[in-house]
Amino acid sequence: ARTLRGRRVLVAGAGVSGRSAAEALLAAGAEVTVTDASEERLAALDTVRDGGGHLVPGLLEPPDGTELLVTSPGWRPTAPLLAAAENAGIEILGEVELAWWLDRQRPEPADWLAVTGTNGKTTTVTMLEAILRAAGLDVVACGNVGLPVVDAVRAGHRVLAVELSSFQLHWSRSLAAHAGAVLNLADDHLDWHGTLDAYGAAKAKVYAGNVVAVHNADDDWSTRLSTGAGRPVSFTLGEPGPDQLGISGAALVDRAFGDREVLADVADVRPGGPHNLANALAAAALARAYGVPADAVKRGLREFEPGAHRSATVADIAGVTYVDDSKATNPHAADAALRAHDRVVWIAGGLLKGAEVDELVARNADRLAAVVLIGRDRAAFAEALARHAPHVPVEQVASGDDEGMSQAVTKAAAFADPGTAVLLAPAAASMDMFTDYAHRGRAFADAVRALPATIAPSD
Ligand code: ADP
Repeated sequence: ARTLRGRRVLVAGAGVSGRSAAEALLAAGAEVTVTDASEERLAALDTVRDGGGHLVPGLLEPPDGTELLVTSPGWRPTAPLLAAAENAGIEILGEVELAWWLDRQRPEPADWLAVTGTNGKTTTVTMLEAILRAAGLDVVACGNVGLPVVDAVRAGHRVLAVELSSFQLHWSRSLAAHAGAVLNLADDHLDWHGTLDAYGAAKAKVYAGNVVAVHNADDDWSTRLSTGAGRPVSFTLGEPGPDQLGISGAALVDRAFGDREVLADVADVRPGGPHNLANALAAAALARAYGVPADAVKRGLREFEPGAHRSATVADIAGVTYVDDSKATNPHAADAALRAHDRVVWIAGGLLKGAEVDELVARNADRLAAVVLIGRDRAAFAEALARHAPHVPVEQVASGDDEGMSQAVTKAAAFADPGTAVLLAPAAASMDMFTDYAHRGRAFADAVRALPATIAPSD
């Protein structure tokens, strides 16, 4: 039914997923045009040009005869080109939806296990990938994690551990994963979706057609969004009830696909912290929904390599642990990062994207030994700290980039007693001072490594 041969398709956006979509469409026999505001990005699509695709910069309307539009996830529905396509009655879909169509046309389509949520997606799909590999399955992590889903499908893998952003889900329609999970939901990207309800509605599409629908029993939004989906299974950081995976003593225990079966020890889950246990339970639930045995869960979690800049311990110096959670780009993520420690010198600040930090500060006031603020929106943090944690010493660093980070780390080290953690968990985006969160994390690690020379040994 979904024939692509001979159809005129416009691809909007010449980024990573746009290139993969265009290549796949050409291979399927479609007539392909790609457009992008940047001529440079378009010019880089040599494989598409060589394959007979047309590259046209800056289109504001679909060319005559366009039958289908494949958009990059970041494009807003209100972008002129997409609005014009919609007015003209042209079907619009994303690269993930295209991947689903292509996959369904294979004699043996892959099995999809899909993960979305505000935070923890990449960690969860990569844990899931490690677990499924430990079970001997031909699996790849794809989607928002980096590898376009179209490429994963064309490579012919048996199982896909798919990370889906709310944008990708917005542009999906027929996706029906074997099992899906919404990890959590907090306000983020509301500038794109408009309201929390619209954001939630996009996330809820991960549950469409599931055989098993996994939700986080400790998260109201996740619980609410999963109602009415496939067989409901949930996870909790508490003692698991029937149809739940949870924590009992020092073990991850499955009461949904087993009779109180022990899957792994808490110590098998790295990096530590409650939020990461939740990610491990979510990954385990999806793997178990796919029939993976308990021992593969344990082996997979042990073999799992934690991602950079996600609660990564950079150094232990004079009894102080330095932790890089630069990936905490919103308050909900920073909250999780803070909760993993009892006593923290917190380095925070950056671009808040309209988010509020009052609740974050109030909830964590008791664990803060001191705070060092960086970045453009540091005043908002300083005001929230004055309101909710007036006893906590606060320093601010005015200069930008790596030099600012180095000053922040030196100030933080001066506040830190043995037994405390110095934690970079900015609760904000990085683009005011750095190229991206990875650059910010590297600047932190470099500054920490330069420390022993600069701090006076305390006795
Ligand atoms: P995503 O892919 O959704 O951005 P990541 O796995 O890359 O998520 O983690 C991003 C950051 O979010 C981490 O560095 C950590 O600060 C925080 N985080 C990770 N897992 C969770 C979770 N389950 N709940 C809340 N915050 C989390």
